[in-house]
Amino acid sequence: MNQLNFRLIQLNLSGIGCWLTVIGLAWLLGAIGLGWLVKSVVLLMLLLVLTPVLLFVGLRFWLQRNLIRGTCPVCTTALTGLQAAETVCPSCGTPLTILTTGFERVAEPGTVDVVAVDVVAVDVVDTTAETDANLPSGSAN
Ligand SMILES: [Zn+2]
Repeated sequence: MNQLNFRLIQLNLSGIGCWLTVIGLAWLLGAIGLGWLVKSVVLLMLLLVLTPVLLFVGLRFWLQRNLIRGTCPVCTTALTGLQAAETVCPSCGTPLTILTTGFERVAEPGTVDVVAVDVVAVDVVDTTAETDANLPSGSAN
């Protein structure tokens, strides 16, 4: 049992001893001409740390430029979509094209969309019933 304990090499890799071991190992490798190995390992570690950060920042930048929020031109439901894509309004089922300015209804070329402005509701009175009743009976001939 004692012979087994002598053969074990134990390193205390906690706290500052861990960093001293890493720095000492890097210095030792650099001293024997394997500095390129240390540099490549450090570069690999930097890439492992920086790649997710750069991907996250790039994805946010891309989404800010390409995510369009607007409303459906037919039913005014709030919509979100990617620029230069086509979608269907989930509320009314209208096919829509997503432009930088917002959502636009897909229509055949030459179709004009008209937007009604200041429409006033007017009560419709049936005047034909009154005129028929007021007419003399012989005037129909
Ligand atoms: Zn709609």
